[in-house]
Formats: sequence, structure tokens, C-alpha cells
Amino acid sequence: MTDRRAELAANLARVEERISSACAAAGRKREEVTLIVVTKTYPASDVRLLAELGVRHVAENKDQEAAPKAADCADLPLVWHFVGQLQTNKARSVAGYAHLVQSVDRPRLVTALSAAAETAGRELGCLVQVALDAEAGEERGARGGAAPDRVEELAGLLAAAPGLRFDGLMTVAPLAGPYAGREQEAFARLVELSSRLRAVHPAATMVSAGMSGDLEQAVAAGATHVRVGTAVLGSRPRLG
Ligand SMILES: *Cc1c(COP(=O)(O)O)cnc(C)c1O
Repeated sequence: MTDRRAELAANLARVEERISSACAAAGRKREEVTLIVVTKTYPASDVRLLAELGVRHVAENKDQEAAPKAADCADLPLVWHFVGQLQTNKARSVAGYAHLVQSVDRPRLVTALSAAAETAGRELGCLVQVALDAEAGEERGARGGAAPDRVEELAGLLAAAPGLRFDGLMTVAPLAGPYAGREQEAFARLVELSSRLRAVHPAATMVSAGMSGDLEQAVAAGATHVRVGTAVLGSRPRLG
């Protein structure tokens, strides 16, 4: 085993142990939680090692980095998630490799992704990103995401858009506002929003929440997907 492979294997084992313990503590089955490894700022060679180590879900947050990496790794049995703020002019590129876009936060992006998915002849799973720190009536949170009172409208648009599938909700724990420092309550709020939407959209079961620092709180709150970067790959060499 190369040093890097051994390092990734050890980190993955530690993260797996954390997820398993959190599931046990919450009385949940391990299979209820899917690990998505966020590979942003790390090379395609790491993605390849992760795939060899059994990782099946990876995520990226910038199209200019993700597009060539996904092309390099096109032979691997991976599901690619896009989790970053997305400009409409990048929709066509993202629809070429992503299986899911977790960061849908405005109607214009729904329109752009729908057109792009149709052109690519692919079905794109979509999550609405919820900004729990955005005020009611405010269009978007500081780090992307729709205010909670806009989620229902976006869900309806996604469910009706050709080429798209509405799969659920995503959030990042807010740094400001009433949920700052209260990750588990923030994630519980996301789960509550998700339960309400499922009355209308029963198949939209994905609840994507929790990162390296707060995956336990996400599992406790009921998340179905955790997005883990640094705990698997190490501290990022640059901001990403
Ligand atoms: C970078 C990123 C993550 C992973 O964060 P870590 O703290 O490195 O685990 C998760 N979700 C999103 C949207 C990200 O941009």
C-alpha cells in the first residue's frame, strides 16, 4: 500500500467508526446513513484511491475543478454530487457529470439545470439547499441556500421540471442567526422541513447534513447523507 492509500484507509476507518457509533447512539441502522466524501481541492488520484477503498459517493463544489476530475475518473463506479454555489452558466457542464446537485436555491437555477439535463439526455437528482440563517422573505443565505419559506416552491418546481428529480433537502450548519453553534437543532429543523415536504413528495427522502465537525449531530437529528471532507482527506491545502 502506498502511504497515501494507507492514510486514506485509516481516515476512512475512523470516519466509519464515528458514523457507526452515532447510528448506534441514535438507535438507527448503519445503512440509513450514506457517506459522501467531499474531494474538493484533492486530486483525481485520491478519488481513485477512495474508489478502490470502497467509497461510492463523492462531492465537489466548483465546476472548474470538478469537470476535469470527473472526466479523469469516468471509469470508476462513483456517484458524483455537486454541493457548491452554482451559476446558471455552469449548469450545462455540471449536468454532464453530476448525478445529483445538492445546492439548488433559486428558480432560475431549476430552469437552467432542467434545460441542461434535457440536452445531456440525463436525469439529474436535485436537492434544495436550505439556508437556516436566511430571514423569511430574503432570497438567499450568505453561503447559498434558500430561505426556509421558499423551499416548498422550489420543491414543486423541481418535481415538475423535465430532466430533474426532486430528491430532498441539504443544509450547512449556520454560522450566524438563531442556529449558530446549535448544529443538532439546525439539522432537526431540516429533518422537520423534509418530513413536511414528503406529504407532497414522498420519494424525496434525502436529508443531507453534517460535515467532518458535526456528523454526529446530523446522524442524531436524522440525516440520511453526511458530507465529509477533511476528516477523510486531511486539512485542505487552500480554501475550498
Ligand atoms: C467542503 C464541504 C463539505 C465538507 O466539509 P469538511 O468540513 O471538510 O468535512 C461539506 N459540504 C459542503 C457543501 C462543502 O462545501
